[in-house]
Amino acid sequence: MKKLEGKVAVVTGASKGIGASIAKHLAAEGASVVVNYSSSKEGADRAVAEITGLGGKAVAVQANVAKKADIDRLFTETKKAFGRLDILVNNAGIYEFAPVEQITEEHFQKHFNLNVLGLLLTTQEALNHFDAKGGSIINISSVVATLGIPGASVYSATKASVDAITRSLAKELGARKIRVNSVAPGMVETEGTESAGFTGAESEFRKQVEANTPVGRIGKPQDIATVATFLASDDAAWVSGETWFVSGGYR
Ligand code: NAP
Repeated sequence: MKKLEGKVAVVTGASKGIGASIAKHLAAEGASVVVNYSSSKEGADRAVAEITGLGGKAVAVQANVAKKADIDRLFTETKKAFGRLDILVNNAGIYEFAPVEQITEEHFQKHFNLNVLGLLLTTQEALNHFDAKGGSIINISSVVATLGIPGASVYSATKASVDAITRSLAKELGARKIRVNSVAPGMVETEGTESAGFTGAESEFRKQVEANTPVGRIGKPQDIATVATFLASDDAAWVSGETWFVSGGYR
């Protein structure tokens, strides 16, 4: 039997990159998956088609998870499609780097509204849908939460917050049989890092990270998805409140 048979998962920001890979890996283990997206309907539909093409179950649901009303609708649609909720992956996030001189209120609020407040509000609403069996919440953090890199103070602060929230909620929700963990990826080749200019073959940033990575390469979305799938499953039944660094040893 597959490890997540009969489970229902919501993955935020699953139209591309790490989120899309997590959605596909959870589905491959038998979970019914809600592929959330904000603007990329085409990407979300593609992820759903890949899952259903392999005999899995998935639906795409548009929702800006920085907005409470959208979040509520995301879970209403989840219940409508699959009837329950067991796994929440808080993956949606943005990363725009800016040196301290260029930080604005707008830059700060944009990052914290999605990466931190959105994650909290999504978790809050998910809690109305987990049943007495409990569940697993996986928050996508980053190595930059603890590894200082220049130009990333606001983004890094959001991910340090994600880890602090993870530890706090693990203690708060343990009695409800809900485990909460975070995964902190190193540099991963995704649509987002590609368009930011981080992971292209000629990127100095990429070369610098590779040179400092014991495993000798940057990550692929599936490197993160396999760990998230483990944390979602009963194989991780006694794992809660942890941050898993998945970075080829770069931290
Ligand atoms: P990506 O390629 O840019 O994809 C981002 C995803 O998030 C897209 O599906 C996007 O949907 C969705 N999204 C953005 N804003 C949203 C919103 N307001 N509501 C709902 N969905 C939203 O990103 P990625 O590189 O895969 O990163 C995913 C997560 O991993 C982020 O939390 C990021 O901080 C973290 N991370 C990434 C790396 C890396 O190197 N890639 C390293 C460490 C941590 P639309 O396209 O529909 O807008």
